[in-house]
Amino acid sequence: MNELEKVMKRIETCRETVIEWQKNLIAIKALAPESGGDGEIDKARYVRTILDKIGFDEIREINASDERVSSKIRPNLVAKIAGENQHRTVWVLSHLDVVPAGDLQLWQSDPFELTVDGDKLIGRGAEDNHQGIICGLLAAKALRDENIVPKYNIGLAFVADEETGSKYGLEHLLKTARHEFGEDDLFIVPDAGDPAGRTIEVAEKSILWIKFAIKGVQCHASTPQLGINAHRAAAFLTVELDKLYELFALRDEMYDPPYSTFEPTKREANVGNINTIPARDIFYLDCRILPHYSLDEVERAIAGIVESVEKKFNVEIDISFPQRAKAALPTASNAAVVEALAAAIRAVKSVEPVIIGIGGGTVAAHFRQAGLAAVVWGTIEDTCHQPNEYALISNTLQDAQVLAALFLS
Ligand SMILES: [Zn+2]
Repeated sequence: MNELEKVMKRIETCRETVIEWQKNLIAIKALAPESGGDGEIDKARYVRTILDKIGFDEIREINASDERVSSKIRPNLVAKIAGENQHRTVWVLSHLDVVPAGDLQLWQSDPFELTVDGDKLIGRGAEDNHQGIICGLLAAKALRDENIVPKYNIGLAFVADEETGSKYGLEHLLKTARHEFGEDDLFIVPDAGDPAGRTIEVAEKSILWIKFAIKGVQCHASTPQLGINAHRAAAFLTVELDKLYELFALRDEMYDPPYSTFEPTKREANVGNINTIPARDIFYLDCRILPHYSLDEVERAIAGIVESVEKKFNVEIDISFPQRAKAALPTASNAAVVEALAAAIRAVKSVEPVIIGIGGGTVAAHFRQAGLAAVVWGTIEDTCHQPNEYALISNTLQDAQVLAALFLS
């Protein structure tokens, strides 16, 4: 048997390890203070015990302080195994925090206690992001157990605060420990994917959230001539904003969907009764914009549409931006990380990888903003944030094999 075969075999025997690690990870509720939790410290301590047992060469804690949690610490762990060539590190970054269980009525079991159902491991965080945590650990453990030195350094990073903005997590790491990460390093974030494990996400769209507040004049609904109906103006504006699809119609087949989107979403309640004409109407637009366009040009077009509606209905319209995030430059589709991961996927899973861009919002964007080539990948059932969230043992083992193949390549 060659090294790769030995490691693949070793990982295949790790079913019980996956179950044990999931059981312990699920039982530690790592919720951010924004979600009413006490942070990730206990989970970080548990992961650290596994890292110690595997025998990592270096383990560093790069903690962010946060007065809101009892430990005062939001933990980030960075662990390394030295490779033959120590000038490059292959990183796997996963996150320790989870989202709340949500409506308990919708769960068939206790969200914070592992339920094993054949290949399914059910519990909050099982998929998002315990599967990612476990894959990286298993791949590193298999190499260590077989006494194989990887070609490059193996780096595992476990971060806090991914679900609520990454300020205390990856953002903190990049701000205070940027030197840990080299320009030639490879960054894999196993935190999204598809059921076949084929898609390698290299790019995101820009995100623009807009709040429109329309101001008219209130009056009795039987005498509309005495007021100005903000609801009608808002409804008209909502439809007018569909013009954005024509104005910014560029297509790029790498993205799913392959065009920019401009969707009216939330609408706030206006008047409480049917026979009053509302003076105020508020709604929101969620825009996911291809990086080919600047946010300024989209905002200018929106301002033009708003102005025409203000004139037509004699209303005042205020615009504000709850979120405005310009997409980072995509990771090149021929970047070393993409080619190495694609080769490992082909070798282990016998499927042809597809390179994609998505609507936005993964932690990999922070790496890209810092000029580091990162990809998001995983074989997942897409149950994250849902009731009865689960991960498959078979996917976890195979994704660990892909990472191990990458560590050996
Ligand atoms: Zn996640």
